[in-house]
Amino acid sequence: MTVDVTKPYDPDNIFAKILRGEIPSKKVYEDEWSYAFYDINAQAKTHILIVPKGAYVSWDDFSTKASAEEIAGFVRAVGKVARDSDLVEPGYRLLANVGHHAGQEVPHLHVHLFGGEPLGPMIA
Ligand code: ADP
Repeated sequence: MTVDVTKPYDPDNIFAKILRGEIPSKKVYEDEWSYAFYDINAQAKTHILIVPKGAYVSWDDFSTKASAEEIAGFVRAVGKVARDSDLVEPGYRLLANVGHHAGQEVPHLHVHLFGGEPLGPMIA
């Protein structure tokens, strides 16, 4: 079922459980604001999910409720994960599915990072 972004944050969603360490994940990076881990169902040679640690469902939620420090921290974390994964020069793709039309399945804002191989025109 896709995410209704108008609903309040569900603290029992799967990424909230990963952030609390209640279910396992393969950690790529962590700092004060952000957590990155490998997607369980990789759609490219490298497929990493980066999430803000705060309780945000959607981009709208994050961009209106998070502090400037939190937003900057998250943006920097995405850049660092790409850099540390040696993806800067070959390139990579960032994708955030938000809400019904985009097919967002997990109600905690996340950015997909795809790379490690030529990606073709688009991953839908
Ligand atoms: P979609 O599944 O349509 O891409 P999302 O953008 O909400 O929707 O992406 C959710 C992503 O979370 C999927 O790529 C899925 O493989 C991944 N995922 C779900 N559960 C886990 C998990 N326990 N650990 C790592 N990745 C997960």
